[in-house]
Amino acid sequence: DDLLGLEDLVANTAFLNAQQIDRNELRKLRLSLILPKPTRTSSVRAEVGRNYESLCEHQPIGRQLFRQFLLASNSQYAAAAEFLEELDNWGLAEDKTREKVKKSILANFCQPESRTFLSYLTGEAAEKNKKLTERNFSEVILGQLKEATRDFLKGRPFSEYLKSPYFYRFLQWKEHEKQRISDKYFYEFRTLGRGGFGEVCAVQVKHTGQMYACKKLDKRRLKKKGGERFALLEKQIMEKVNSLFIVNLAYSYDSKNHLCLVMDLMNGGDLKFHIYELGERGIHMERVVYYTAQITTGILHLHSMNIVYRDMKPENVLLDAKGQCRLSDLGLAVELPKSKTICQKAGTTGYMAPEILRQENYRTSVDWWALGCSVYEMVAARLPFKDFREKVQKEEVTRRTLEDECKFEHKRFDDPTKDIISRFLKKKVAYRLGCRSGDDPRNHSFFKAINLHRLEAGLVEAPWVPNPNIVYAKDAHKLRETSEVEDIKFESKDLKFFKEFSTGAVSIQWQKEMIESGVFDELNNQEVNGHGFDNDWK
Ligand code: ADP
Ligand code: MG
Ligand code: MG
Repeated sequence: DDLLGLEDLVANTAFLNAQQIDRNELRKLRLSLILPKPTRTSSVRAEVGRNYESLCEHQPIGRQLFRQFLLASNSQYAAAAEFLEELDNWGLAEDKTREKVKKSILANFCQPESRTFLSYLTGEAAEKNKKLTERNFSEVILGQLKEATRDFLKGRPFSEYLKSPYFYRFLQWKEHEKQRISDKYFYEFRTLGRGGFGEVCAVQVKHTGQMYACKKLDKRRLKKKGGERFALLEKQIMEKVNSLFIVNLAYSYDSKNHLCLVMDLMNGGDLKFHIYELGERGIHMERVVYYTAQITTGILHLHSMNIVYRDMKPENVLLDAKGQCRLSDLGLAVELPKSKTICQKAGTTGYMAPEILRQENYRTSVDWWALGCSVYEMVAARLPFKDFREKVQKEEVTRRTLEDECKFEHKRFDDPTKDIISRFLKKKVAYRLGCRSGDDPRNHSFFKAINLHRLEAGLVEAPWVPNPNIVYAKDAHKLRETSEVEDIKFESKDLKFFKEFSTGAVSIQWQKEMIESGVFDELNNQEVNGHGFDNDWK
C-alpha cells in the first residue's frame, strides 16, 4: 500500500513538473528543425483549396501569414489588416477602455488624411465610413464596414497572396502538418480517468511542450464490443468542432494496441466532483453563472453545426488549469441536419427531457432541458426530479419528469436562477428557453454580470482557479487497467478502420499549438529556414 502511495506521488510530481516546463530548454532541442520544402507543391496546393475563410481566417497560421502579407504589401492593404485587428479590440474591450478604442478607430480609419484611411471602400460603405462620428458610432455600422473590408480582401489582395512567398510558406506548414503521428511524438504521464474502452492519460508533445489529454481506446476491446463505429463518429464530431468551451481534438493516431484521441487537457476536475466532493455541497452562485455561460456558449456552438450533444450533465463538464470549463465526452452526440429529427432514447437518467422519455422526435431541445437540470444540480446538489443518493427506479424518475413541477426548496435559489431553470424545464418544447429560432439563452438576466463578448474570447477570468499543486483526479493506481482482452485477431477491414481513424494532426488545433509554443515564429525566421522566403519560392 505504501508503495502504491509512493508510485502515485511520483506520477503526480512528474505530471505537475511537466506543466511548468522551461520553454528555452525546448528551444535548444528543436534548433535542428526546419520546414520541409513542399516537394509536391501542386498536390498540397490542391488540397488546401482556395477558400478565403478557411485560408485567411479560420486556420491560425494562414491568418498570420495573410496578415503579414497585407502589412508588407502596400499601405492600403495594411490599413485593411490594421482595421480588422482594431475591430477585434473594439469587440473585446472592457467598458472602461471602449471609449479609447472608439476614438482611435475614428482617428485612424475614418479621416482621409490619415495614413490608414480605408481608401479601398466604395459606394455606400465609403460614405458611411467618412460620416462616422462619436455620435452615430454603432456596432451595426462597424459590421457593415467589416463586411466591405472582407469583400475587398477576398478580391485582388487574396489572389495576389496566393502567388506570394507568404502562401508558399503556408504550404510548407501544411506539408509539415501532415506528418505521421505515433506515440513517439509524445511523453506520457499519469492516468487521469477511465472510460468504457480504456484510460485517459496526460501527455506532452516532445518538441513544443504542449500538454494534452490522450483517450486511449483499446483496439481489441473495441472490436469485441463492436464499438468501432461509435469511436469513429466521436472522433469525426470532435475534429469538426472548434470552440473554447468544448474539448477540442488536436491529434488522432494509433499505436500497436490503441486508437488515441489527443485533446485539450482539463486538469481541474469535473463539475460533479466540484458539486459533491469538495466541502459544502453545491457550487457558489457566481461560479454557477460563469460555468453556465460557458456551457451555453459551447452548446450553441454545437447546435450551430447541427450537432445535438445529448449528454449534458455536470460530470461531463471539465475544468482547465485556469478554471474555465468545457464540454467533454461527445460519445453520444449526433449530427442532425436542420430538417431531421431522431427519437432514439439516449442520455442519462435524471437529465433526459420529456420528449426523449416519451420517445417522440427531437433535436436540440433536449440539451436545453438537460442544462436546466444541471444548473439546478450545481445550486442545490440534487436533481430536480431525483434527490441526492435517492434510491429510486428509472420509471419513477420518468413519471416525475413527465408529471411533476420542479420545486425550489434550497435557500440558494434566487429569482433569476429560478426563472432561467423554469424556462429550461418547460415540458413543452415550444415554450422552452433556447428552442425558438434565433433565441439565445445568454440574453436572460441570469447572465447580467457577464460580458459575453469577452467570455466568448476566453477573456473573463474564472471566479475560482484550481490549485496548481493538486491533481484533481483519483489516484493513478485506482484507475489502472485490470482485464486484458486477448484472442482477438485483426482482419483487413479492421486495419482499414484503424487507418481511417488515424488522421494525425487536426489543422486548427495543431496550428494554434505551433503559434502558442513559439515554434511558428522560430521556423518562420529566415536564418533557420534559410532557403526560402524571398528567393526560391517559385
Ligand atoms: P468515455 O466516453 O469512455 O466515458 P470519457 O471521455 O468520459 O470516456 O473519459 C473518461 C474519463 O477520463 C473522464 O470521466 C475524465 O475523468 C477523464 N477525462 C476525459 N477527458 C479528459 C480531458 N480532456 N482532460 C482530462 N481528463 C479527461
Ligand atoms: Mg464518460
Ligand atoms: Mg463517452
